[in-house]
Amino acid sequence: MSSHDDELQRIARARLPEGLRAETLAVRTALAPSQHGENSEGLFLSTSFVQPSAAESARRFANSEDFTYGRTSNPTVRSLEARLAAMEGTEAAVATSSGMSAILLMCMGLLKAGDHVLCSRSVFGSTINLFAKEFGKFGVETSFVSQTDLDEWRAATQPNTRLFFAETPTNPLTEVCDIAALAEMAHAAGALLVVDNTYASPALQRPASLGADLVMHSATKFMDGQGRVMGGALCGPNHLVRDIFGPVIRTAGMVLSPFNAWVLLKGLETLSLRLKAQSEQALAVARWLEERPEVSRVYYPGLRSHPQHELAMRQQSGQGGAVLSFELAGASPEQARARAYHVIDSTRVLSIATNLGDTKSIITHPATTSHGRLSEAQRQAAGIGQGLIRLSVGLEHVADIQDDLLRGLSTLPN
Ligand SMILES: *Cc1c(COP(=O)(O)O)cnc(C)c1O
Repeated sequence: MSSHDDELQRIARARLPEGLRAETLAVRTALAPSQHGENSEGLFLSTSFVQPSAAESARRFANSEDFTYGRTSNPTVRSLEARLAAMEGTEAAVATSSGMSAILLMCMGLLKAGDHVLCSRSVFGSTINLFAKEFGKFGVETSFVSQTDLDEWRAATQPNTRLFFAETPTNPLTEVCDIAALAEMAHAAGALLVVDNTYASPALQRPASLGADLVMHSATKFMDGQGRVMGGALCGPNHLVRDIFGPVIRTAGMVLSPFNAWVLLKGLETLSLRLKAQSEQALAVARWLEERPEVSRVYYPGLRSHPQHELAMRQQSGQGGAVLSFELAGASPEQARARAYHVIDSTRVLSIATNLGDTKSIITHPATTSHGRLSEAQRQAAGIGQGLIRLSVGLEHVADIQDDLLRGLSTLPN
């Protein structure tokens, strides 16, 4: 070995010791640095990679080996995938251009005409559309069942059920499902359980450790954490991620940009700190809202009044997460919407936007934004009323967040 190789071996990250804890893995896991020894992971904005010879190029292409072309692999994206897999405790991870494209990749890899999917009816709006509308066109049938009633899942299982898809906690009502119980039921039916872990993130919840076969992410939310880039991921065993999704993403091309991967790598380094701080703030805001006379209901897993409070505390490291929703009652849907708009439009600090997981607090009207494309019947089934407001709690001082909400709450028209 040359002294140059020797030097590379000694550079940190090249070989991490065994048994490191989650916080350490979130900061340290990556491919080995280049010959320059950069301490922050390199950003490789390169579409193609120069090959040492025609024969070696042929060998790498034939075996789909790293690194040839950007749709096949990229070192910055590989670093992100390694870090994500380490944090979720799975063998592998594949990064995608958005959260929705992670679900698209999963469906393309696992489903064919005649297959059946069981999905909670409380999942993210576009997820419902992707299963029901887009994959419905290709002969995949999806049944939507209660987020929390396990008997409904059992009763709706069919011999051709391939996938159970759950999201917990859900957006925006923060309903929590029992991952371990669903995993057991899926496996008894010969199906896979996929959990959308966007809301809790691996900082609070590791679905694979509870039996989920695949963990899906919209990295756009907490992983970035500062509202900059879109991204997504699927984490799971090699026989799914490498062997099944690998060939599909190389062909279909929903790959993550290396720049976005680099931003997400930086986001993951502070994920656990942010989640803890934002969860604590969200709990304070939720408790405060529960006391407000204008508010008819607060949805937050950290509250004792939450129907799955104990399960959530067990499953999510004792934290409720950074997102809560609250309801303003109204005599009619139109009046409830007017009251919700008043509170939203009275804010001067919070962002009126349709993202979540940002260090900036974000206020949203789900019925006309994230769930606006659903039919009224689908929206009713999902429990998204016109008086509902979603709040993603950031890192501003909690008193400033409360004061900003109070501007509208204290001046509601009757
Ligand atoms: C945002 C979101 C998605 C979709 O992710 P994109 O990155 O916007 O494509 C899926 N699931 C949940 C829970 C989300 O919040």
